[in-house]
Amino acid sequence: MATAPSPLPAHAGPAVASPLYAALGALLALLALTRGGHVEVVLVASGVAALLTTAAALVLLRAGTNSRAYAAAGAAWGTAVALAGTWPHTDVAGLSLAQLLVAAGTLGPLLVVLRLLRDARAGTDDPPLLVDALMLATALATVGWDAFTRSGHHGGTGWTASTVLTLTATALLAGSATALAVEHPRLRAAAVGLSLLGVGTALTGICFHHERATAHVAVVAALAGGTAGLLLLPRAGIVQHGGEAAARAARRLETASLVPGPILLVDLVLLVLSPRSDPVLFALYISVLVAYTVRHAATARAVDRSYRALRERTLRDELTGLGNRTALQDALTQPDREQALVLLELTGLDDVNDVLGVRSGDAVVRAAADRLVRVLAGPGGTAYRTGRDEVAVLLPGGTADALRHVDALAAAVAEAPAAVDGAARFPLLATAGVSSCPLDAPGDPMAPLVRADIALRDARRLGPGGVSVYSGDVAAAHARRSLLRERLSVAVRDGLVAVHYQPVVSFTTGRVAKLEALARWDDPVLGRVNPAEFVAVAEESNLVVALGEHVLRTAVRDAAAIGVFDAGVGLAVNVSVVQLQSPGFADVVRDILAAHDVDPALLTLELTESVFLDTDSPAERVVTELARLGCRIAIDDFGTGYSAFGYLGRLPVHVLKIDRSLTRSVTEDGTGQSVLTCVVDLANRLGLTTVVEGVETAEQAAVCRSVDAPLGQGWLYAPAVPLTDVPAQLARVHPVPGSAQPVAG
Ligand code: C2E
Ligand code: CA
Ligand code: CA
Repeated sequence: MATAPSPLPAHAGPAVASPLYAALGALLALLALTRGGHVEVVLVASGVAALLTTAAALVLLRAGTNSRAYAAAGAAWGTAVALAGTWPHTDVAGLSLAQLLVAAGTLGPLLVVLRLLRDARAGTDDPPLLVDALMLATALATVGWDAFTRSGHHGGTGWTASTVLTLTATALLAGSATALAVEHPRLRAAAVGLSLLGVGTALTGICFHHERATAHVAVVAALAGGTAGLLLLPRAGIVQHGGEAAARAARRLETASLVPGPILLVDLVLLVLSPRSDPVLFALYISVLVAYTVRHAATARAVDRSYRALRERTLRDELTGLGNRTALQDALTQPDREQALVLLELTGLDDVNDVLGVRSGDAVVRAAADRLVRVLAGPGGTAYRTGRDEVAVLLPGGTADALRHVDALAAAVAEAPAAVDGAARFPLLATAGVSSCPLDAPGDPMAPLVRADIALRDARRLGPGGVSVYSGDVAAAHARRSLLRERLSVAVRDGLVAVHYQPVVSFTTGRVAKLEALARWDDPVLGRVNPAEFVAVAEESNLVVALGEHVLRTAVRDAAAIGVFDAGVGLAVNVSVVQLQSPGFADVVRDILAAHDVDPALLTLELTESVFLDTDSPAERVVTELARLGCRIAIDDFGTGYSAFGYLGRLPVHVLKIDRSLTRSVTEDGTGQSVLTCVVDLANRLGLTTVVEGVETAEQAAVCRSVDAPLGQGWLYAPAVPLTDVPAQLARVHPVPGSAQPVAG
């Protein structure tokens, strides 16, 4: 999750100050040029460099609270030093003008040091400002002292000055060379520029006494390189927010920053050995070295801390404090014992989110996580949040051991809603997929996760709260469903799913009253696939929407074409809940009927009871809309589900289709017949038509007729037949039970 560094904030200050400082630098350089050979080039150059650097830094570095103060201090210092270099040998009231200027210039940076100290006291401890202040102060004093002594009449530029220059330059070079290894292109370019600065300064130091002309060229090169380098130096933000590559870059930069340390040390040794013994410079050097070392240690600690914090953050789920998917993957990659993986899906969480809002949903997840952690303390398991409504649990031992804990885990999840205001009425069930993570298993370490996921899908098919353990059978079933889904989507797209028609026959006239459209699919690879199987697969995805529409469109078109509707015979089509929830379903039905000029009353839409269980579900509104259109609504498979009657009063239902399991029982035991009698009686009283499904024997038909059931459907009359056989079916008149003679067709 790499965040791009935010663009530089637009602020008025630098826009004015930056060109001002740059212009001042140019002006001072010009001024020094007019003085010809009387100037101290090194001092002028470092003054101008300070001004240009300040101008560049103002634009490039993020404007913090102190940036303007830093810039003013840098500019003041630069101006003073450049002026000192321009008049190195002038006296004012018996004192050296150059020395006075350098001393005055030091005041600006000194104020910055004081500001740093003030901030440090205010408690902004990151970065360690106290150490920064110390380092800045000692470095400042060192440079200031060096410039001061060199700018005076008597100091001159001796052996030390050129050696220190050369070594400092070498330090810059070495640091930049290391920084070259850093990936970021802007950092690399900056390193090149800074190297130029190093080379130039080194040459200046070497040529100082003998070759003034070369020294001048070197100063110009150094200035150009340094300015370019600083202009290209990116903000720290690039490194802070740049993800893994930037983190690597930051580590290398850190290594690069190690380089100046040893060089400072060599500097110090040379200073000690130098013929010009300057105890002040010596003491200052030691202080810089100490401050540098302390700062380096502090930086290393801070970097380490932020890495750890970052790593911690990338492994934690913020909401629950559990490990996240990455943490689970880590654990799976480095298993230290045999474990089982349990993927728990918090089934029912969507309802909480939908009705009470995401905040309550989050609170429920948090409550569930807390409870899971408590349950897992016993067996020594670990929980990870791997998805919005999914928690993974690693338990020691095999799947059999894990299964012993699944009930407790499910109970922990079930308790969670009670802990959240208003959520207690939403049942939360843990649907679980279990797989084993054997130690030293060859192959992909993520395999247990994939397997648990397959098991979880299998568990879902068992219903909310289902539990499934990954096995060869589960895997095979999963593979088959995947293959089915893939091939079915192609078949639906290419219109290869056929529609057959099963007659619904009147028990009183023996004539076909209606045809039920049933999908038939012959796949070249899979052969004929049972509709119950492929419809279920289609319902798991949105595929059932396209499939259902294809069946509806084909059935209405073909039935209209062969005159089914003209004969007053109706058409029944199965509709899945998923279809009802798809946007614009009622419009699709209206358009199809209109396209073939079919009376909506001749179309029955068969729905299962599950549609009506949620009061106020969007599906219910669609049913009402369809009924208003004039279509008839049938409850399919009545007697298998809840067989509740509540919705019958609330919703426009016209037909009850009695499931064939009930039909089978009517001739097997007395209760079956009583139940059938009751249902038909109730339907008649409510003004509903009943269709008895799965009528296979004349005996069953006779019972149905005896209890006044009006319509039946089943193999006794006909199986579902292709369109070509439909006219023959319509022409048939089936024997009416109880009447002596079959009515001749
Ligand atoms: P259903 O809606 O209950 O359809 C009746 C099923 O019972 C059909 O199975 C039919 O062939 C079968 N059947 C008919 N008479 C008898 C009988 O006397 N004895 C027995 N044992 N079975 C009989 P089919 O065609 O295999 O369809 C199975 C289920 O697949 C359907 O059950 C329906 O829920 C679903 N289905 C089929 N086509 C579609 C469709 O186009 N859309 C949707 N959403 N579902 C469909
Ligand atoms: Ca049906
Ligand atoms: Ca049925």
